[in-house]
Amino acid sequence: MTRPLSWRARTISASPTVSLDSRTKELVAAGHDIVSFSVGEPDFPSVPAANEAAKAAIDEGFTKYTAAAGDLRLRQAICEKLRRDQGLVYRPQDIVVSNGAKQSIFQALAAICEEGDEVILLAPYWVSYPEQVKLVGARPVVVPTEAEDRYHPRVERVAAAVTPRTKAIVLNSPNNPSGAVYTEPELRALMDLAKEHDLWVISDEIYERLVYDGARHVSPATFSEDAYRRTVVVNGMSKAYAMTGWRIGYTACADAALTAAMLTIQTQLTSGASSVSQMAALGALRGPDEPVAAMVRTFDERRRAMCAALNEIPGLFVPLPEGAFYVFVDVRAYLGRERAGAAATAGAECAAAPREGGAARRVFHTTDELAEAILVEAGVAVVPGEGFGVPGALRLSYATSMERIEEGMRRLKRFFAAWE
Ligand code: PMP
Ligand code: GLU
Repeated sequence: MTRPLSWRARTISASPTVSLDSRTKELVAAGHDIVSFSVGEPDFPSVPAANEAAKAAIDEGFTKYTAAAGDLRLRQAICEKLRRDQGLVYRPQDIVVSNGAKQSIFQALAAICEEGDEVILLAPYWVSYPEQVKLVGARPVVVPTEAEDRYHPRVERVAAAVTPRTKAIVLNSPNNPSGAVYTEPELRALMDLAKEHDLWVISDEIYERLVYDGARHVSPATFSEDAYRRTVVVNGMSKAYAMTGWRIGYTACADAALTAAMLTIQTQLTSGASSVSQMAALGALRGPDEPVAAMVRTFDERRRAMCAALNEIPGLFVPLPEGAFYVFVDVRAYLGRERAGAAATAGAECAAAPREGGAARRVFHTTDELAEAILVEAGVAVVPGEGFGVPGALRLSYATSMERIEEGMRRLKRFFAAWE
């Protein structure tokens, strides 16, 4: 007899970024030389102030449950950070600290959505948004953005997607995977729309520190009292402070009822975030800014190197992304067109399943297929666009060393040369 699983288990797909990272790690452990551009994780060590604060917390025995919303000192430090960096004024009681921004977003959705509600997402979107929307019983409504607009939103398209069931819109700028940093007029127009239809706005600002070439991150919650009240600001320690493994994210929300609801959900899910990690986050937020600024400078150099190399591949046009640490590459020129098969793809030394004598003749119809071949034949892990709602693109993270970027680009050039 089979015991059926829930509709949730049947409906939700695994995170492609997390799954691909696990697969890459397994291949590496099995001795394959894979260049990983897959997961969005800084390759730097966590900022020293985080590590020191965590060690002190352990030594001092700060290893018990904290307040469910997070240790008060951490919430105060988060308020100081939001005021300093974004000009947002919150009180500690407006903050809920969670086990990563991923959990923060889930709790916001769970507190906002009724069964059958619609939540607007702009594609490309971060892989977890639609699955989390489905997990809370709501329906993701996807509004596309275009490569030729550098994935900036066309507000009239968003307006056209609003229905009486629309409950919220999720904004993510700087954007994962496109790197788009929405302009203030774009964000203002989206907030006007949210006001007109009385929507919640979940503003995922986790890449806020990672902006380049003078691009400026603006939180939409700063625009007006109304914008401030309807926005849940989401942020966390993973990206700017290289603290992915500590699992600390947070929401800042001026709506007391929504904050209370998110906290209630958290008390039943996890009781709160790890005490030691919270102290690490406090150390990082109160610590020197220079390690963060240095990382941003290094990301900027890698961004330029990766884009320059990709632009040497025929058929690819890759403008410099404005923020985050991803390049989202439109590869439609290589889909549905037969690979001639003459050139060698990867060197046999690097591929997970090395081929002698070059690539086989083949047509790739989806970026899922293409990314799989790039992994297996070229030994480079990239994330296919399907999971981001843009099937013709690949995401490459440049949160890895310059040497690995150069090696990965050599492999990709050889892989794509097989079409010439
Ligand atoms: N939002 C976006 C856009 C992300 O890329 C990530 C990366 N994991 C998260 C949220 C969640 O980060 P974390 O759970 O590590 O805080
Ligand atoms: N956000 C990162 C990424 O997009 C980490 C993995 C995840 O949580 O999805 O790769």
